Amino acid sequence: MSLQRALVTGGAGFLGSHFVDALLGEGWNVIVVDNLLTGRRANLEHLSHDPRFEFVELDICEPFDVGKVDYVFHFASPASPVDYSVHGIPTLKVGSLGTFHALDVAHNHDAKYFVSSTSECYGDPLEHPQKETYWGNVNPIGPRSVYDEAKRFTEAVTMAYRRYHNLDTRIVRIFNTYGPRMQLNDGRVVPNFMKQALRGEDLTVYGDGSQTRSFCYVSEEIDGFMRLAKSDEHLPVNIGNPNEFTILECAQRVLKVTGSKSRIRYEPRPQDDPKQRCPDITKARQLLGWEPKIDLEAGLRMSLDYFKKAVAEEATTK
Ligand code: UDP
Repeated sequence: MSLQRALVTGGAGFLGSHFVDALLGEGWNVIVVDNLLTGRRANLEHLSHDPRFEFVELDICEPFDVGKVDYVFHFASPASPVDYSVHGIPTLKVGSLGTFHALDVAHNHDAKYFVSSTSECYGDPLEHPQKETYWGNVNPIGPRSVYDEAKRFTEAVTMAYRRYHNLDTRIVRIFNTYGPRMQLNDGRVVPNFMKQALRGEDLTVYGDGSQTRSFCYVSEEIDGFMRLAKSDEHLPVNIGNPNEFTILECAQRVLKVTGSKSRIRYEPRPQDDPKQRCPDITKARQLLGWEPKIDLEAGLRMSLDYFKKAVAEEATTK
């Protein structure tokens, strides 16, 4: 896959920017397009002098063309519950119009195509752990539907381009991922808890904290994407860490890793917040030889310096 040109939509985001680093590391030329609604130029600052890297600020909800590309990686979308509830309509637009435009770029240039989907396609799941064959339990009109249905549509239109245009497509279903470059204010549980613990504030556990999530450290998640990108699998593949934690356990891990004396404060649980989430990764194991090994506590330790720095920077800019 070397010395070719890749397009990454949403490449200024948390996951997108880590994936850009991985592509450059494998010898690709990379062009990122991002409208910076939730992405940040700072995530790509370290690449500003790399001649193989280009950045164009644009909104993929309008048709666009960036010249010949060999692979389109479509990551663009707000992705945290807070971000997509604030930006509900842009989330629906980027998942629908934006996905059409990203697919059109791939189709017009005869490029391969890879799209980030999400465990949110499973909604508040009635099957546990979630296999790729599970169709999900999604509220189509609830507050999360702007993201869940946009991503389900993204999968549908991707499969349609495969069926009708013979496009060479891949779909990854991403489960909770954490690590450096997460925005302190994106509202997700790991940045919220890390920020609160480092500032000595209460950790806000929503509900009684018995709901579960399965957290994957970012470098392992990116390795899973890369393996899938190189494979021929066109049906969705779960990429996530199957070690499941309650949110209360997650809070306790954060307190341990930060050495914080913060206390836990219980707050109301958001509507339609999934009760359990854990990927069945049998397919990724068998097909891609992919298996995450970094446990939550180790990953939090690896993220600690980043969060300390981010909290300190925020304090000085206030
Ligand atoms: N959560 C929490 N406190 C916070 C932020 C999140 O208890 O400050 C809970 C949230 O209700 C959910 C889980 O942590 O059950 C994961 O939430 P997140 O926003 O990280 O992502 P989600 O997995 O819901 O997309």
